[in-house]
Amino acid sequence: MAGEFDLIRRYFNYPTSHTELGVGDDGALCVPRPGMQLVVSTDMLVAGTHFLPEADPGLLGWKAAAVNVSDMAAMGAEPRWITLAISLPAVDESWVAAFARGFRDCCEAYGVDWIGGDTTRGPLNLAPTVFGEVPAGRAIRRDGARHGDDVWISGWPGMAALGLAQVLGELQLVGAWGESCLERLHRPMPRVALGCALRGTASAMLDVSDGLLGDLAHILERSAVGAVLDEPALPLECLLAACRRTERATAALLSGGDDYELLFTAPRERRGQVEAIGRHCELPLHRIGRILDKPGLWLQRGDGVCEALPGRGYEHFRN
Ligand code: ADP
Ligand code: MG
Repeated sequence: MAGEFDLIRRYFNYPTSHTELGVGDDGALCVPRPGMQLVVSTDMLVAGTHFLPEADPGLLGWKAAAVNVSDMAAMGAEPRWITLAISLPAVDESWVAAFARGFRDCCEAYGVDWIGGDTTRGPLNLAPTVFGEVPAGRAIRRDGARHGDDVWISGWPGMAALGLAQVLGELQLVGAWGESCLERLHRPMPRVALGCALRGTASAMLDVSDGLLGDLAHILERSAVGAVLDEPALPLECLLAACRRTERATAALLSGGDDYELLFTAPRERRGQVEAIGRHCELPLHRIGRILDKPGLWLQRGDGVCEALPGRGYEHFRN
C-alpha cells in the first residue's frame, strides 16, 4: 500500500497556472493581484454525515471542490486557490485516484490551482479550503438587503433534492428534466460567473446549500429585515416536468439543498441590470419576492392570501 508521500506525489500534485509555489514545500506561495481582497472559506464533508462512504469517488471529488467554489461565487469572488486536508481509512488507491481526478476536474473547470493540503490516516473526512479574490470593497455580503429590494433566485432550485429522492427510491423522475435532476445532484455547477457579474448590482447574496427558505432566513437575519415570497412566481416548471407532483416539487424548491444556486436581493431600479446579467450568463433569473422592513417571512399565494412562515416554520416544507 502506498504511503502518505507516495499518495501525495501520485495523486495530489499538479501543475499550477497562477501560483508561485504549489505542493511540495512547507507552504504554498500565492500572489494576490493588486487591489484585490482575499476571500477564504472552508466547507468540510464527512462520510456518513454529508455523503455515504460508498459514494462514487469521482463524483465525491467534484462535489468536495464544487461546494467550496460555490462559497466564492456567493461572495461575488473569483475562486483562485484550493487546499485539501483529507483523512483516509486504509488506502484504496483506485478510490484515491478517482477521487483526485474528480476534485482536479472541478478545479480545472473553474480555473482554481490546487496548491497543498494534508493527508493523514483516519475516518474518511474531506476538508478543502478555498481562497478567492474580489476587488477591494466589492464583495457581496449577506447583510446588505434593504426594504423594497427584490428577491431573486438563479436557475431551478430543487432539482438536486428531486434527484436525491430518486436515488433513495422515493420518487420516479421522468424525461430529460428527470435526468437533469440527477446530473445536478451529482455534479453541481457553482455559479461563479453570475456571482462576479452581480457585483455592484446585488445588495446581498448567498448560495443555497441548505434550502431556499432556510438560506433566505440567513440574509434576513444578517440584514435585519423580512421578506414576502410570491408563490406564483416560484420557478416550478422544470421540477413539475421531472416529477409531476406539485406538492413534492414545491417542497423541493423551498427546502431542498445541494443545488448551489445563488439567492440574492437587488434594488427595484436594478431589475433591468439583473435581467441583462441573466441573459449574459445564459441563466434564468427568477424574481420571487421582495424585502420588507418588518422581520419575518411570508408566502403570498395566488389568491392573494398571505401565509406567515413563523420562525423556522418553513420546516413545514421539508421533503
Ligand atoms: P509537512 O510535513 O511540511 O506538513 P506534508 O508532508 O504534510 O508536509 O506535505 C507535503 C506537501 O504535500 C505539502 O506541500 C502539502 O501542502 C502537500 N500535500 C499534502 N497533502 C495534500 C493533499 N491532500 N492535497 C494537496 N497537497 C497535499
Ligand atoms: Mg503537514
